[in-house]
Formats: sequence, structure tokens, C-alpha cells
Amino acid sequence: MLQQTQMARGVTYFTRWVTRFPDTTAVADANRQEILKYWEGLGYYSRARNLHKAAQIIVDDFAGEVPCDYDQLIQLPGIGPYTAAAVASVAGNRDIAVIDANVTRVYARLFDIDIPVKEKKAKDQIAGIADELLPVGKSRLYNQALMELGGVVCTPKTPECSLCILSEFCLAFDRGTVNERPITGISKKITTIQRLSGIVFHEGRILLLQRRENDVWGGLWEFPGGELKKGEGEDAVADKILECTGLTVDIVDPITTVTHHYTRYKSILHCYHCKLQGDDIEPVLKSADDYRWIIPEELVHFAFPAGPRKVIEYIRKKCPALLNFTTSP
Ligand code: SF4
Repeated sequence: MLQQTQMARGVTYFTRWVTRFPDTTAVADANRQEILKYWEGLGYYSRARNLHKAAQIIVDDFAGEVPCDYDQLIQLPGIGPYTAAAVASVAGNRDIAVIDANVTRVYARLFDIDIPVKEKKAKDQIAGIADELLPVGKSRLYNQALMELGGVVCTPKTPECSLCILSEFCLAFDRGTVNERPITGISKKITTIQRLSGIVFHEGRILLLQRRENDVWGGLWEFPGGELKKGEGEDAVADKILECTGLTVDIVDPITTVTHHYTRYKSILHCYHCKLQGDDIEPVLKSADDYRWIIPEELVHFAFPAGPRKVIEYIRKKCPALLNFTTSP
């Protein structure tokens, strides 16, 4: 929950989550739409889906108790080497080194590692050091202490070397290379994607499509549309809706344009108020798993990615009558 999320916001989500899902069985028994709804706004929705699947496996295979063995943890959906090591060490005190960004920085400075830390050679070197230094039977304390040292003392920009209990062993401190370590790679270029979408109305209902399971934001809902390609105008929204649903619509008005960022993308979504032509309401889905014609009051039961969610928030504030918003959700 805390990846790319501020602590205060993460705590709000976590509190709400554990109130509704107090144990593994409660997560396992919930339906996926509810899981996604409780995760809505945090991003990285595959984590929510994997958490749900992992809970079901834990209930079926481990009587609802999260295992603490690395080899069992790593088999669970959504659990990679870092999480498996962290749970095995912090919860189970197993003798396993945990290497996150903070720990990587501390080791890169302590051993003055002069190659980019994202390279395999550096990763292997740090993993080897971490294994060698791990005190047997004390991994829970040791790993947490090292992560804390990286988070509080050996910080990325202004490390407090004068306060650091490791300064006498630190090669980067000794050699004056602290500010050059760790060596990080070149940051990735941001790609801009423009999308057109329409809130399609028909007899008081609006059309939602459910994203395909394996797509980014799989299982979440959105308004129909498609990517705005080079040379196309924004009035292409009707064509996009036709392509992805087989339904013909008229454009009534533009509603708003919203922007959000995720991983290395900048996504710009132009949203339009549209009206279905004719009475044939059955879409032919080309790139969605499911659809619903809902009354606007039902929107609160569906989970949306950031773009459509921002559009809904815009309507709530600026033109609430469009979706019959009268009160806050
Ligand atoms: S001496 Fe400075 S650079 Fe070295 S580990 Fe301590 S805080 Fe980090």
C-alpha cells in the first residue's frame, strides 16, 4: 500500500482495509470487485488482485496463517524475493538478508561500490556482502536496523556521516566519495499517452467497460474510448467508441481533460458527454472483459483507474447534475 503513497494516506487506506478485512479469511472470501474498490486510488492494482489470490491460497493451504518460510512465501502470487525475505526475516526471524533501496545505498557507500547498483554485477556483490554480514539468529533486528540506518542517517542527499556509528568502517566516507554513491542508472524517459473517452448516456444510464484481466488496471472499470493517435482530432471519440463497442454515439459536449502519471507514463484523458444513437444497447466488446449500463448513483460501487476517477471527481465538483450528484459519496 505504501509504494508511491505517502504515509498518512497509506495509513488511512490500511485502517479502512483492516476494519473491513480483519484477517486472511476475510480477504479470501471477499469478491474481487470489493477488493479493488478498497484499493481504488492506490495504483498498482495487480497487487490487490495478487493479495486476493494469495489470501485464498493461504486459507486453503496454510489454514489461514501466513507462512514464514522464504520458499513457501515466494510461491504466493505477488510475492517477489524482497517481500519474501522481508516477511521471513521480520515476521519469522529467518536468517535471510533483506535488500531494499535503503540497504543498497548503505552497502554501496560502506564498500564504495563504483558500478551502477542496478547492474547485475553490483546486485550480486551487494547480495554476497549482505549474506556474509548477516548475524545468525538476529536477522529480524539486523535487517530492520540497516533499513532504518539508510532511511534516517545514510539518506540519499545529505547523509549524517558525523552521527553514523559505521563511519569508521565506511570506505566512501574515508575516500570522500559519499555523494557519488550509490551510482544510479539514467532515469527513464517519460512517455505521453493521450486517450479519448466518452460517458455514453442512454435512457438515464451510462456505459462502463471492465478492463481485461491481464491489462494494466485489469478488472477496473472505465468509460469506453481509445488512444488518440497522431493526426486524429478529439472528435475521433465517437470512432473510438464504435471501435471498442460497436455502438454508434453522438458527441454532445466536451466534459474535461485530466492528466495523471503512472510509472514512466504521462496519461492525458479527454472526456466527452456522448449519447447513444438508436436503441441497440448491446456492445460487441473488442478490448474489455465485461460491461454494464448503470444509473449514475451506482458509480460508487465500481473501482476506476486514476483517469476516469478524476473525471468523476471533476463532474462532482463542476457539473454535478450531469451524473445526478447531489451529495458527497
Ligand atoms: S559514514 Fe556516511 S556514507 Fe558511510 S554509512 Fe555512515 S552515513 Fe552512510
